Amino acid sequence: MLNLASLCFPDREKSCFFCCPPIRDPAADPLDDVAGRRQRFRENRYRLAERLRQPREINGESCWGLGFLDDEEKQIGCLLHPLQNHGRDLRHLTGYQFKCANALCREAEVFAALPESSQQLALALCRGMDSFTYSSRTNPVKQLLCWEREVTGPVLAALAANGRQPTLQDLVDEYGFLWQKLDFRLDGYLAGKLISRRGVDFLCRRQAELPALRQRIIIGLTRKLAATAVNNGRLRPCHCLDIPLSLSRMLKFGADIWELPEGIESEIVSAIESEVKAFV
Ligand code: SF4
Ligand code: SF4
Repeated sequence: MLNLASLCFPDREKSCFFCCPPIRDPAADPLDDVAGRRQRFRENRYRLAERLRQPREINGESCWGLGFLDDEEKQIGCLLHPLQNHGRDLRHLTGYQFKCANALCREAEVFAALPESSQQLALALCRGMDSFTYSSRTNPVKQLLCWEREVTGPVLAALAANGRQPTLQDLVDEYGFLWQKLDFRLDGYLAGKLISRRGVDFLCRRQAELPALRQRIIIGLTRKLAATAVNNGRLRPCHCLDIPLSLSRMLKFGADIWELPEGIESEIVSAIESEVKAFV
């Protein structure tokens, strides 16, 4: 069994396998056809030696190297990983070693940047889940981690400050609006801004007004940028500008702005800041 304390391998009871294979259908979820997956993971474990003699390239449906890592069928992971093979990396046998070795979801990056107490709380909220439920993107903790550190950190801190050990249901009851009513790609930046100015409670109280605020900001920015973009030739993709990822997401998915002139960052940020200031 692997025992690396992280979002990928939180404890000995479960592991995350969401990113396998790295060429999967992005809409596929570990909770789809659990019985079929369980059967495949068992077979992959017991027929590994045979598969290694006749390796084949994987497709986006599944990987013959993904299986149960332990006899109790609790943890699920890569049977071809060096940690499973005395240091030998066998992932090249599937044809996607580079992608496999570099697969790291944004949620894991956000998790890694949290204070240790928040990491421990996030993992404690997942206690009792099996690997399928834990890996699923319907897992509320994974949903929360989509919201970047500016939101995830304060939400976990607020949960911890409740005075008793919070539960997963507390997370859903108090902050489920984040993924049930809002969208991290559209609202992540503004939610972080509101929290940094007025705290998590303020966001909870005013969450219903966030889409309208976002829309106002987008209309203003679109007008402003239309003129700027015409006057300035050198465009760069939004995610390459010196702005937070959450802001580039809002521009792309909220305003359909995918490229912007270099050097425009501070203008955009201060235009948004004035709207946010007026809102709070
Ligand atoms: S999806 Fe993220 S948390 Fe899950 S195994 Fe991959 S990198 Fe780790
Ligand atoms: S080779 Fe390993 S890491 Fe790559 S898709 Fe298969 S199980 Fe996942």
